[in-house]
Amino acid sequence: LVVLEDVNKHFGQLHVLKDIQLSVQSGEVVVVIGPSGSGKSTLCRTINRLETIDNGRIMLDGKELPAEGRGLAKLRSDVGMVFQSFNLFSHKTVLQNVTLGPIKVLKKGRAEAEKRGMELLDRVQIADQANKYPAQLSGGQQQRVAIARALAMNPKVLMFDEPTSALDPEMVQEVLDVMIDLATEGMTMVVVTHEMGFARRAAHRVVFMADGEIVEEATPDEFFTNPQKQRAKDFLSKIL
Ligand code: ATP
Ligand code: MG
Repeated sequence: LVVLEDVNKHFGQLHVLKDIQLSVQSGEVVVVIGPSGSGKSTLCRTINRLETIDNGRIMLDGKELPAEGRGLAKLRSDVGMVFQSFNLFSHKTVLQNVTLGPIKVLKKGRAEAEKRGMELLDRVQIADQANKYPAQLSGGQQQRVAIARALAMNPKVLMFDEPTSALDPEMVQEVLDVMIDLATEGMTMVVVTHEMGFARRAAHRVVFMADGEIVEEATPDEFFTNPQKQRAKDFLSKIL
């Protein structure tokens, strides 16, 4: 579904993505882990063109990603993003956050968008908060709204960049539970996270990045019990 071929990216002199090859199958859950600064966020951001790439190709559904114009807007709705910092619209209600994209971008009618919005809020178990503003919600609730908002665009793939890192510990699980449900339902997901419990439970594949490279790829079972590369071993010994 998503294929990256020989993708390279520099920030000035800094080579942040080095010959990245990655393919994500439809329905697959790929967890990306690695030390700080290894390029995980940049990798996520290139997939919906929030970052440009220097060379290489990124394909979605067999088609190369458009860099601009109408095609780019379509791409942005096909690739959903959930960030560490929620990024909700603070002056809009929870329901409005979820219906805005479908109304503006997908040209849905308000009634239809609201009906579907309420279904999605129900799915992330927050329908009772629909008329509140983001600031009135807990972090875990806000992040679940962000997930509902991403789902409202009917994405082909959902990217998560450390979705639980900004949360108080007691709220981490409620967000992971929603993500585990999505994974079980067959959503294609790329998840940057330090939550190894999630990786073990939900990932089909773990991708370990260091210094802008994909150093190792394996099933969670193989990766956690028998990492092959020294850098992966060092990383695991620090976090497990
Ligand atoms: P973390 O675990 O801390 O989130 P990461 O693996 O997500 O790290 P990136 O955010 O992708 O890492 O950053 C990779 C490298 O690129 C880092 O050295 C970072 O400082 C650098 N970098 C990221 N964004 C920019 C930017 N807009 N301009 C310049 N350098 C950048
Ligand atoms: Mg990051």
